[in-house]
Amino acid sequence: MTHPRVSIYEADYDRLDRAVEQALDAYAPPIEGRFVLVKPNILGAMAPARAVNTHPSLVRAVVRALERRRAGRIIVGDNSGMRAYGSGDHAARVAGILEAAGPHFVNLAASPLPVQVNSPFARELVFSREVLQADVLVSLPKMKTHVATAVTGAIKNSFGHLVGGEKTRLHREAPGADDFARAVVDVFQVRPPDLVILDAVEAMEGQGPSGGRPRTVGRVLASASAVALDAVMVAMMGLVPRKVPMLRIAEERGLGPADVDGIELDGPFAVLPRFKVPAIGMDLGTLASRIAAYLLVTRPTVRRSKCVRCGSCEKACPVGAIRMTDAGPVIDPVRCILCFCCHEMCRYEAMNLSRRMRILQGRRR
Ligand code: SF4
Ligand code: SF4
Repeated sequence: MTHPRVSIYEADYDRLDRAVEQALDAYAPPIEGRFVLVKPNILGAMAPARAVNTHPSLVRAVVRALERRRAGRIIVGDNSGMRAYGSGDHAARVAGILEAAGPHFVNLAASPLPVQVNSPFARELVFSREVLQADVLVSLPKMKTHVATAVTGAIKNSFGHLVGGEKTRLHREAPGADDFARAVVDVFQVRPPDLVILDAVEAMEGQGPSGGRPRTVGRVLASASAVALDAVMVAMMGLVPRKVPMLRIAEERGLGPADVDGIELDGPFAVLPRFKVPAIGMDLGTLASRIAAYLLVTRPTVRRSKCVRCGSCEKACPVGAIRMTDAGPVIDPVRCILCFCCHEMCRYEAMNLSRRMRILQGRRR
């Protein structure tokens, strides 16, 4: 039995062309004359130095490489945020991706297409039409932690195949960590990428996907298997891949290995010392999960000193648990389903999570 292969390249943002060429040589299906969708992670309107979005240098290098290979049509786009039908262009501009993509940028929210899905959480979901039309899908995720799913990588990057409001709806239908992980894999299965190139030059640790801290890793990872690539990324973070629910579920469905022993590794693999991950969102075992739920699961709270009353958290909340007042957002604890979308979408680090959770970050074995 052949194992899926994952390559790890040393890289920095000024020298990405070589790594991208090697990745395409090793893993890309035929490109010439074909319709290629490049899908970076553009979570929101945050500058590249925050390490929230895929770095524009990687987008630029991939677009150049696809042009050299004479792709018939190249488009670059994402569905940013939770209800971001109108803000995709703005997020891409601030992220530097609008400029990096040049004439290839499209707002994926502009062409919705309802699709029947095999999911206990929805019979139909609205995808971006281009995701299903492209001959070749190149996913460019960011190596990040995530307070709801433990990590963001290639599997989670597929959640952006849904147009903005659909992500909110699915969050509402699948509020628990395990159910939400199933829902993410349900979306991923509809159109897995053909090639993944992970931006791990500047990763994010701590309270990702938007409130953590940049961590220099200096790597680009590539694979034709999104699941195998995520497993390697998770192992580099010092985690056991099968304890991340998205990976465990993907493996159970035969979508790829959640164990580095089942992966052919090519390049300098190393576990990053004391990489900070949120304990929340992890599968810690039955008893440990209960204790973790008691100790760790907390409610988001607003840091008034940082809040600029932009209202993004109110728009992101899938259950309407946030009401804007003159003093800022007020959260209804009874309605709140602990999805942390408000934390994810706050650009000002004003939506806080518990101090206890931060203390426990990194104790995951
Ligand atoms: S908590 Fe954040 S997202 Fe919500 S209003 Fe304040 S600054 Fe905006
Ligand atoms: S208040 Fe925040 S954590 Fe609670 S349901 Fe709304 S978005 Fe999710």
